[in-house]
Amino acid sequence: MKNNKLNHMYFGHKKDRIQIAHLNRPMLLGYVGFVESPLLEKPAPLVLTNCEDDDLAALRIFGTGTSVIMMQKEIFYGFKRDNRAARTILFHEIGHLIRGGHEEYIGRREQYDEDRLNSLKEGKILGLEEVADDFAVEYLGAEYVIQGFRELIETTRPLEDADDFEWEQYKYASEELEKRIERINQKFI
Ligand SMILES: [Zn+2]
Repeated sequence: MKNNKLNHMYFGHKKDRIQIAHLNRPMLLGYVGFVESPLLEKPAPLVLTNCEDDDLAALRIFGTGTSVIMMQKEIFYGFKRDNRAARTILFHEIGHLIRGGHEEYIGRREQYDEDRLNSLKEGKILGLEEVADDFAVEYLGAEYVIQGFRELIETTRPLEDADDFEWEQYKYASEELEKRIERINQKFI
C-alpha cells in the first residue's frame, strides 16, 4: 500500500459538513471485516491485500483515529485455520491498535521502517514492536507466539533464485524476529 494516501473531500458547512475519504487507488481485495473490543473506541476495519509489496500485516493509521488492519490474504485465512504464525501476526497488529503510541509516526510510515531498521543495527528492537509483542503474548501465550515467529521465519524464506533485494529484506526481518523471540523467552519463560 506504499504511496496510497487517504484523500479528503468536504461538502457543506459546519453541522451539515460531510467528509468523504478515499484512497488514491482501491485496495486489491478490500474490506473483509473489523476488529471490535471494549478496549477500542470504535471498530477497526480489516482489509485484505494481495499486493506483494505490502507487509504480511500492518496497522495503517490515516490521520487522527482512522485505523485499518491490513493483511495479506493468506495470513487472514491462516488466522481462521489457527495457523500460529498468522494468529501471532494478527494479535501483534491488534496490540499496535490497542496499545497505541504511534502518534509521531502518523503519515510517516517510511520513518517507522527506518527507525526499526536502525534499532536493529544497534542490536535493539523498536519499543513499539515490543509493546505489540507483549500484547500478543497476553492473549496467545509466550510459547505460542515464539512458535508463531519461528514458523514465520521458515515460511517467509525466499526461494533459492530470489533476487538480492528479497534476500536482504528477509535477512533483516528474520534477524529482528530472532531478537524478538529471544526477548519474549527472557521476559516470559
Ligand atoms: Zn509491529
